Amino acid sequence: MYRVLFITFGCKVNHYETECMKETFRARNWEVIGEEGQADAVVINSCTVTASGDSRVLTALRKARTRYPEAVIALTGCYPQADPETASKITEADLICGTKDRGRTCELVESLLSDRKRTVLLSDHKKGDLFEPMKCTHYEDNTRAFVKIQDGCDRFCSYCIIPYARGRSRSKPPELLREEAAGIAANGVKEIVLSGINLAFYGAEMGLTLADAVEMCAGVDGIERIRLGSLEPEMMTDSQLERLAAVPGFCPQFHLSLQSGCTRTLKAMNRRYTAEEYFALTERIRRFFPDCTFTTDVMVGFPQETDDDHAESVAFIRKVGFSKVHVFRYSRRHGTPADRMSGQVPESLKTERWKSMTAAADEMRETYLRSLVGRTVPVLFERENCPEFHQGRAPDHTLIKISRKNPEKSLRNRIISVIIEENGPDNCFGRPVVDLDYDLI
Ligand code: SF4
Repeated sequence: MYRVLFITFGCKVNHYETECMKETFRARNWEVIGEEGQADAVVINSCTVTASGDSRVLTALRKARTRYPEAVIALTGCYPQADPETASKITEADLICGTKDRGRTCELVESLLSDRKRTVLLSDHKKGDLFEPMKCTHYEDNTRAFVKIQDGCDRFCSYCIIPYARGRSRSKPPELLREEAAGIAANGVKEIVLSGINLAFYGAEMGLTLADAVEMCAGVDGIERIRLGSLEPEMMTDSQLERLAAVPGFCPQFHLSLQSGCTRTLKAMNRRYTAEEYFALTERIRRFFPDCTFTTDVMVGFPQETDDDHAESVAFIRKVGFSKVHVFRYSRRHGTPADRMSGQVPESLKTERWKSMTAAADEMRETYLRSLVGRTVPVLFERENCPEFHQGRAPDHTLIKISRKNPEKSLRNRIISVIIEENGPDNCFGRPVVDLDYDLI
């Protein structure tokens, strides 16, 4: 039996695609191993969102070639797709394919095992490309399944390389999603997280919407929770929100990507909304989900951002009242319009702004977690990796910990009502509403 090692960089969508590739290798009787094993093949599924990301991929390639000199090494993903000229010259890799044909990786690796003829399979994404029909139902340890239902993006934000790596927006056929959700449920997983590169555009080319995908998954026996991955603040109509609000098990936590709370900066980023429009969308969502939470990503130090713009952005995140904010420094990306802009912000000033935005974000996080004390929430317990506590996620994605009275017993994959008694810096502590009877578990 051949053994394959996967090394994955980047976002949830990339990790999902790795899980799909693993399934194709297992289906052809390969053993998927960890770093400690001796591999016949190594697949590096790359990311190219930042320049430092590229260098991490190259380091991993060189390390793999040194560690596994006889193995077939494959480089897949966004890095070679976005920069085929550079990537096709990388000698450490025997197989190079981008963000297409990943379903064929195993077959290509097997032919390389016999003929060792270096293969570069890189072609541009074209308008009208279809969604690559990959699916994954095997979630060994997980209690939630990230399922990619949308790929590509048509938005071309001025700082972003992703549309060049992922092509135009396209969606997973509904019948494939239904089949995949049923397979996931059959493997005992209770929560599905619908993911994509620009998820809000799911189904746009098929006359479907995100609400259709959520309703479809909710209709599968065994799936008790459906969560949405990162969303762009677009396409969310009242009728969609009304349908989502009617779905039992829909988790009202919206990760609504903001990037800046200053409309002048949003314009320079080529984002398709103003700060006012973003706020109006959060108000509309709150009408359908009074208890919902918003999390987001914010960038600081974008070219031409002034102190006033930054102050406006900080004030804006306070106005929305996010439960969690991920703060990033703008990072120049060769090949994007923002990289060619004048008025690049010095790194020291970026750091200063990162600190002030993070301070505001931490304060809001603390306020939010403190507001949960006294509430009762259903918690989906995850794999046990802490002797003192059982831990799991509430519908708002907050990590909840309860004392673990019997280290032999696991609550993994159980949904149990917990009353929150205390908040920590990034999670909460509580106790089960009904005393756990371990003998029943
Ligand atoms: S919406 Fe903008 S930031 Fe998001 S993937 Fe598309 S271009 Fe990139």
